[in-house]
Amino acid sequence: MCGIFGYVGKKTNAPKLVLQGLKLLEYRGYDSWGIGAKPISKLEIRNSKFIIEKHVGKIGDVTLNSQLSTLSSELSIGHTRWATHGGVTDINAHPHLDCTKSIAVVHNGIVENFQELKDDLIKKGHRFVSDTDTEVIPHLIEEFLKRRGFASSVRDAFNKLKGLNAIVVANAKSSEIIAAKNGSPLVIGVSKDGLYVSSDATGIVKHTRKVIFLEDNQMAILGQKIKLIILPNGSEIRPKVSNLTWKFEDAEKGKFKHFFLKEIYEQPKVLEGIATNSSQIKKISDLVRNAFGTFFIACGSASYSALAGTYLFSKIAKKHVNFAIGSEFNYLEDYIEKGTLVIPISQSGESVDVIEPVTRAKKKGAKIIGIVNVLGSTLYRISDYKILLNAGPEKAVVATKSLTAMIATMMLIAYSLVNKLREGRTLILKSSRNVGEILKDEYVGKIKKIARKLKDHEHIYVIGRGLSYATALEATLKIKEATYIHAEGFAAGELKHGVIALIDKKTPCMVFAPNDETYDEIISNAQEVKARGGYIIGIGPRNNEVFEEFLSTGDLGEATMISQIVVAQLLAYFLALERGVEDPDKPRNLAKSVTVK
Ligand code: GLU
Repeated sequence: MCGIFGYVGKKTNAPKLVLQGLKLLEYRGYDSWGIGAKPISKLEIRNSKFIIEKHVGKIGDVTLNSQLSTLSSELSIGHTRWATHGGVTDINAHPHLDCTKSIAVVHNGIVENFQELKDDLIKKGHRFVSDTDTEVIPHLIEEFLKRRGFASSVRDAFNKLKGLNAIVVANAKSSEIIAAKNGSPLVIGVSKDGLYVSSDATGIVKHTRKVIFLEDNQMAILGQKIKLIILPNGSEIRPKVSNLTWKFEDAEKGKFKHFFLKEIYEQPKVLEGIATNSSQIKKISDLVRNAFGTFFIACGSASYSALAGTYLFSKIAKKHVNFAIGSEFNYLEDYIEKGTLVIPISQSGESVDVIEPVTRAKKKGAKIIGIVNVLGSTLYRISDYKILLNAGPEKAVVATKSLTAMIATMMLIAYSLVNKLREGRTLILKSSRNVGEILKDEYVGKIKKIARKLKDHEHIYVIGRGLSYATALEATLKIKEATYIHAEGFAAGELKHGVIALIDKKTPCMVFAPNDETYDEIISNAQEVKARGGYIIGIGPRNNEVFEEFLSTGDLGEATMISQIVVAQLLAYFLALERGVEDPDKPRNLAKSVTVK
């Protein structure tokens, strides 16, 4: 969603640092951006104002597109906005200022009671210039500043906000930046040259590996030192510094044109890592075995790994588990009680649609096992037990390596439940090798050719049965996100209950056909589609005469789905290129981590 970045310290190019930081957060998705800085020359001037600059669109070249990028300053904050309240305009972009133009605020989230606060502030004489909910915050701080110091004013203002919010505040009359949150993530970077604050660690790792993950209801005052306080009252606590394991290169494209492709190619390594390094699996499977009901909850691609989990647990471990989409779980939670196990799955660990129901389940006594990729993320922190996916930073909005890592992890838990963890590990290692084969040039060339054939189609249908139903849904989402082609995935048995009416001459239909109990039936369904003119693309270990195109995978039992998903990822990527999608790393309207409801 939005990106926040700030710096205060000894370096005198703070605005440039902030812009570079914001660019590293670009993958989160945004529609406009802005930056503010306190110029060095005005440091001692009592009536100094915060200088700001705001634009619609992408940051692009930092020095070309930002006048502030060359300003000498030791204190700067910036924001990439994903509009929720008020249109995408320069004025609505952040930072927002108070009436005196000395308090600057960048904000992630939604101030749910903004209208009430705004009406009250207007009565007190404050003048608003934007349509955002955010603008109430600097004015509220201004109001409190009449009676107290900067930090206390920010604290009291933040305490008045309803909703899930993260803010970073600067004051032209102070040498401190203040960060507070009760929702979206904020990470503080500690280096000898100064302090950074960022929406996630990818923006910081270039400068320092030492970080403090700000917890909900904490406020950090960043100046020459860090002071951490608990909200709402303000008692001081000691900051806990963690060390990041990611390297800066992990967050760079390297020889690849897009993160999307780079991350697809990282999958053999990620899978190998999971197979050889899955220390938490045994403990987690014991918890699942003894739980009074297990519920997987997730959104987007992760939800398909959860759906796959229901088939995997049934097939491998003969165990029933439940699955719900994060945003729907609130309406299903009545059956949660003490002893229930809730397993949220999320790449970022910040999806509000997962965090919210998890928090409620926890209050009802459920135990939480978080399966996440980002260390220190909100889900990671609120989980009682955790599995870190260790897929490394995933920067393309379209999920690839995080998703196959989730599926491999689910498989291992299922195998471990029946004391066959070693068998599961061997399978994932084989899967890693097969993905390596699929990524070879010759195979990729074949996918490119099919992409060329499909590029002008308006609809693609995708079918699977059993585990492959989850594969079909995931493949469909990849195509939709990356190419903007209308793609729909179905449980193949459902075709004749309605969907087959959509099949027309030459309609492409992808068929996921692993060599398992679904093979004969899925082939019959492919025949039915072909009989109505459909163009059949088969993906799996066994060719069949019904397939017009065939993309072969290894025959790896349940792990065949991992190879099939990688084929679908590649097809989606090259289809995006064929269709001239501007930036496959950042599909239109989408954001990487969805931190608003
Ligand atoms: N609600 C605020 C706005 O619309 C913040 C949105 C964001 O998180 O980027 O400006």
